[in-house]
Amino acid sequence: MKAFYAEEQKRHDPKAFLSSGAPQPNPEKPERIERLLAGARSTGLTVERPKNHGLGPISAVHTPEYLDFLQHIFIRWQRIEGASAEVIPNIHPIARNGSYPASAVGQAGYHMADTACPISAETWNSALWSAWSAVEAAEAVMAGAASAYALCRPPGHHAFADVAGGFCFINNSAVAAQVLRKNSARVAILDVDLHHGNGTQGIFYARPDVLTVSLHADPVRFYPFFWGHADERGEGPGLGYNLNLPLPRKSGDEAFLEALAAAFQRIRAFAPEALVVALGLDAFEGDPFGGLSVTTPGFSRIGEAIAGLGLPTIIVQEGGYLCDALGDNLTAFLTGFGGKKD
Ligand SMILES: [Zn+2]
Repeated sequence: MKAFYAEEQKRHDPKAFLSSGAPQPNPEKPERIERLLAGARSTGLTVERPKNHGLGPISAVHTPEYLDFLQHIFIRWQRIEGASAEVIPNIHPIARNGSYPASAVGQAGYHMADTACPISAETWNSALWSAWSAVEAAEAVMAGAASAYALCRPPGHHAFADVAGGFCFINNSAVAAQVLRKNSARVAILDVDLHHGNGTQGIFYARPDVLTVSLHADPVRFYPFFWGHADERGEGPGLGYNLNLPLPRKSGDEAFLEALAAAFQRIRAFAPEALVVALGLDAFEGDPFGGLSVTTPGFSRIGEAIAGLGLPTIIVQEGGYLCDALGDNLTAFLTGFGGKKD
């Protein structure tokens, strides 16, 4: 299996982060890449640099207004006297159906869901290359590979069509799914990150051609709180094409694999022609977020189970934070999936 990644993805280095109101170092650190690269290489994957795919595949799932904001907001922010070093919102619209603000501060609140996704000089470029890694993986599978791994960082699944959030700016999994749609009438996205894939759900919520399924810690007491509940099933033509499988906090391997079986039942009924796995490794028992209790061998079983679907598959990296086993957990997943074989 090939892996895709570009050096530029390392340059985004967010500093600010609020955890339960307290300033903390941002956990979405560039060092994650080193650990994940080591994990991919020790599985036997070859790592290649993606091409520049331009804005086309990205603007297929994000609004022009939002992409313009991401590209230019840092420069505009620097012109505000006394502004913070990174773009961080301090006011949000309660409803988003009012007028679009002209000011940088207003637009930051409009386009950023929380304080976990500060924007610096390098953010836009890193996010672009992260998305292009996902595009390249999708194209590799469309060209005949059984599977491909996109080492996406910054991650993407909390990014909506026009909102950043939770360390995410461009929704790499959604970009990959939309690219796959060129050759596939139906694409499924299976999100196994600890956190609900709210941005991905939002992007495809009214569409019946992309099935979104997410396993995650129950948002009743966990980020992202406002999405990820079992009664969110899609809307309009997309009704029935979103499945949320929230798990009790600290659930381990058996509960996760049981929920995965329910996910597979829905995916098989949908009969997709391709699969995107939004692979967060933060469901790990030793992850700093501590939401679920999946073990390293558990990731191997999860990978093996997903391979059993027998679909052309793109694996897109989402979360998973610094801990000793981060690289090993990727190796476990990819080995279980059978990544060494092709
Ligand atoms: Zn996560």
